[in-house]
Amino acid sequence: MAKTDINNYDCIVVGSGLSGLVAARNLQRAGHNVLILEAQDRIGGRMYGQHVAPDQYVDFGGQWVGPTQARFLALLDEYKIPRFPSPLHGKTVFLYNGHRSEFNGFFQGFHEGEHPNISEEEWDDAMDAWNRFEQLSNSLSSGHPTQTAENQLLDSQTFTQWINENTKTDFGHWYFSYMVRAVGFLGPAEPGQVSLLHVLWGNKCAAQSEHPEAELIHDGAGQIPAIIAAELKNQIHLSEPVVSICQDQEGVEVKTLQSSYRAKFAIVAMPPHLTGRIFYDPPLPSTRQQLTQRVPMGTIAKILISYESPFWREIGLGGVGMGNTEWIELFADSSDPRSGKGVIATFVMGDRYHRWQALNESERKAVILSDLAAYLGDQALSPSTFDIVDWAANQWVGGGYAAFMPPGVWTNFGHTIATPVGRIHWAGTEIADRWPGFFDGAVRTGEAAAEAVIAGL
Ligand SMILES: Cc1cc2nc3c(=O)[nH]c(=O)nc-3n(C[C@H](O)[C@H](O)[C@H](O)COP(=O)(O)OP(=O)(O)OC[C@H]3O[C@@H](n4cnc5c(N)ncnc54)[C@H](O)[C@@H]3O)c2cc1C
Repeated sequence: MAKTDINNYDCIVVGSGLSGLVAARNLQRAGHNVLILEAQDRIGGRMYGQHVAPDQYVDFGGQWVGPTQARFLALLDEYKIPRFPSPLHGKTVFLYNGHRSEFNGFFQGFHEGEHPNISEEEWDDAMDAWNRFEQLSNSLSSGHPTQTAENQLLDSQTFTQWINENTKTDFGHWYFSYMVRAVGFLGPAEPGQVSLLHVLWGNKCAAQSEHPEAELIHDGAGQIPAIIAAELKNQIHLSEPVVSICQDQEGVEVKTLQSSYRAKFAIVAMPPHLTGRIFYDPPLPSTRQQLTQRVPMGTIAKILISYESPFWREIGLGGVGMGNTEWIELFADSSDPRSGKGVIATFVMGDRYHRWQALNESERKAVILSDLAAYLGDQALSPSTFDIVDWAANQWVGGGYAAFMPPGVWTNFGHTIATPVGRIHWAGTEIADRWPGFFDGAVRTGEAAAEAVIAGL
């Protein structure tokens, strides 16, 4: 039978991802009595990593930070957590339709340096379409997309429709599919699954041209949850999934599988679809319930592959590659110079993930290494560690990097995404209107939820 915790908290935070930790920390700093309830047996949610060797830590979740991610940078500075520029010590490999080439540049929507080995016609097709995409994206108003006539039109289409109408070549078509599937645009998603409005909005409030992958964190982003939690002492209960939240005029009663807790307010800090798994009394407004049925997470596994040294640098490569091979569309050098090891981070996403999941464990490893070797050479076949983190299989997160909106969701249900319901406030990177999907968005929503609760206490 459930125990009742007689301690009457000021606020219960559900979820110990970055947003929940920041919310709880700010409430505690303002002198309030807080408890975090976390479903998993560890803190951090998508901010999580591990030592894969004694002197080598890798991030299984998020890892990069960029120069305009002001709230996350402020947090790193406050805790004096050092960063280093993402390594790019040589040429980028481009492997397209079986042709391998190297170039001194980079493309993620915007491009820098040389362009890859592709015909002028194909490159111009992609870049002309990119300029139109940027123009349309910049024409959106700031904040969450609302129900205007223009937005409704954009929200009635998938990104595939826009790609088909705006690109003429195979490369142009692939370029945008790669952007939404591999790079993200808040998701990632297959272009046929996601609303055009969502992709445009993602580019406006979390633009690749602002270089969100400019820097990495020494010893990993995954160290941060424990640093914040240290401030919260023992006010975090692990392995306690919240199953219901009841509220009345006095406060909230939050039940887990083990216990029952009372507080004046609750902050539910997790991806929107997971907020829909909790039972609420009184029920949430219908539009909010409908929203949480429609916000899927991107389909993704992250793979970390380590080598005794970053061998690719000896052959003039930067450890970054992009292309349309069977499994890997994007990988990046994620080696921390303090360890001296070489680390490649890559991902299996979207429809590729489903085909890859159907393989057995040794086949999954073999196909990834074989693809990587096609980019970097046969030395890639002999890693010292190989780790797969299957985010789509984690029932308390459900995918990554973040959630995306299929057509019709923003304009019909989006207004409920961050709106508190009585004494229940929401946090989590998905509800940010600046850098949603990123650590920075998570920090912003944790700060905002704490501020709103403090105002009500
Ligand atoms: C593979 C991958 C790579 C990424 N790369 C980057 C990157 O390089 N840079 C970047 O900025 N961002 C990146 N991200 C995104 C970043 O990790 C997230 O934006 C951020 O960590 C989300 O924090 P959050 O607090 O919003 O949610 P989460 O981290 O998802 O936290 C939610 C928490 O709620 C808990 N929970 C769920 N249900 C319940 C329940 N019923 N009861 C109690 N607890 C519950 C979960 O266990 C979890 O701990 C990446 C994400 C992934 C998966």
